[in-house]
Amino acid sequence: MVTRSGQDYLESLRDGREVWLDGERVEDVTRHPAFRNTAASIARLYDLAHDSEHAPVLTQGGVHRAYAVPRSYEDLVARRRAYKLWAESSFGFLGRTPDYMAGGAAGFAAAPQLFTTDGFDGAPNALAYHRRLAEGDLYPTFTITNPQIDRTRSASEQEEDDLVVRVVAEKDGGIVVRGAKMIGTGSVFGNEVIVGTIEPLAPQDVEHALCFSVPIGTPGLKFLSRTSYEAQARSVFDNPLSSRFDENDALLVCDDVFVPWENVLTYRNVDATFRMWWQTPAYLNFVHQAATRFWTKLEFLTGLAILLTKANNTYQLPPVTQAIGRLMGKVAQAKAFVLAAEASYEQVEGGEGVRPGKDISFAQRIMAGELYPQAVQEIKMLAGGGVIQLPASGEDLLHPELGPLVRKYIRSPGHPAEDRIKLLKLAWDALGSEFASRHEQYERFYHGAPHIYLMQQVWEGDTASCEQLAQACLDGYELDRREPDSGEQR
Ligand SMILES: Cc1cc2nc3c(=O)[nH]c(=O)nc-3n(C[C@H](O)[C@H](O)[C@H](O)COP(=O)(O)OP(=O)(O)OC[C@H]3O[C@@H](n4cnc5c(N)ncnc54)[C@H](O)[C@@H]3O)c2cc1C
Repeated sequence: MVTRSGQDYLESLRDGREVWLDGERVEDVTRHPAFRNTAASIARLYDLAHDSEHAPVLTQGGVHRAYAVPRSYEDLVARRRAYKLWAESSFGFLGRTPDYMAGGAAGFAAAPQLFTTDGFDGAPNALAYHRRLAEGDLYPTFTITNPQIDRTRSASEQEEDDLVVRVVAEKDGGIVVRGAKMIGTGSVFGNEVIVGTIEPLAPQDVEHALCFSVPIGTPGLKFLSRTSYEAQARSVFDNPLSSRFDENDALLVCDDVFVPWENVLTYRNVDATFRMWWQTPAYLNFVHQAATRFWTKLEFLTGLAILLTKANNTYQLPPVTQAIGRLMGKVAQAKAFVLAAEASYEQVEGGEGVRPGKDISFAQRIMAGELYPQAVQEIKMLAGGGVIQLPASGEDLLHPELGPLVRKYIRSPGHPAEDRIKLLKLAWDALGSEFASRHEQYERFYHGAPHIYLMQQVWEGDTASCEQLAQACLDGYELDRREPDSGEQR
């Protein structure tokens, strides 16, 4: 087995996929101005695995490390090094690189028995899913959230039957599904999309209780893309991140899609459709990748803050240095969550291999969702108005009349105009652009909504130890019932 090259990957995207943007069907995502640079950035990830320096980090036994089922603490560390290398390639801004769901697939393969139910045995299909992706070095994406519509009603109780993906017919060789799912991050760049539900379904949601994976080019599968920040970017110089790392988010619509039985992982089973994410290591593997990327992104943002404040000659001012100290503390926190989840690894219950520790992985979601907006805010305060007072594009620098003015007035000691503008445009793309704002929303929600994961931390956390310790303190003293005027020394 060998991993794919970037070119192989790009060619795999020309499969007739139905991607829509601004009311038009996109012919070829590898060539369209809304997608092509990001597709090329992902292709570079694949090429890294062919580089003699990086291949040992990224691959194991001819497959990407994210697909390998970790058997030891050392395997988890090796997998994280692979995650980190890819994350650094986009400075943490591509969240759903192929390794994210690859880790999920490896999680299924570690505990396939959880896919076996009374009416349907999805275990062989779950194993085949993992094998197909690993051997083909495919890019799997996922849509496992029901469209928002009405959050007080279950999937089957929405205003219409087909708002949330459900099975509408059984045919020879498979099923027909109809309905929508959110949010297909990276799906327009993927090879397969897995469609399921990570939130609990209600007992009556049987028709919606299924999980399947299909190639992105499957007839009837439509991806309705959000605004493309890549298309809005003026150039790489002007929008260095959004022009190259806009991973896209799309609504997935299944318009009577035929799914062969072998691609179905769970079927008409509320319990199995839920537990496949939580009782296999799939979700914890997601967090391992995400936490590593988050750490990388904070390193990048902190580096930006250092460069910015050095350019403004404020770095050495004590309050500014202290702000950098707070950011460095956040980087260390993000790193600590990764290392601690690995160090607290556990055997997969009833399955194979090991997984990162649960309570620390779960807590990473709380930390990251709160910490990211704080870090962005901190750096915006350090940046001041320079990030706004910038020429609309690099064209002004090249203009015979404007160029000298820009060079005269937009500069800092040791930073000629071009360097300064380059730095500040990068900073604004990361901190204040629409792309940046999407990233803030991403870091807050991609793990799920806080009202769910905060409750989960209580339900699944070791609240007893905390409670017992506080109780032990209370048990160590009592009200002194002696009369205050007894005259004894108190
Ligand atoms: C940028 C981005 C990318 C994403 N990518 C993917 C992806 O690739 N695949 C995928 O499957 N999903 C993806 N998601 C979806 C993500 O999983 C969901 O956003 C997340 O699960 C929260 O669901 P929701 O957005 O429907 O919010 P909701 O569940 O509607 O919650 C929104 C807010 O409403 C309130 N609320 C709603 N219900 C309750 C309640 N019962 N009790 C109390 N408060 C409540 C809370 O204030 C909550 O913060 C992505 C999300 C974002 C923002």
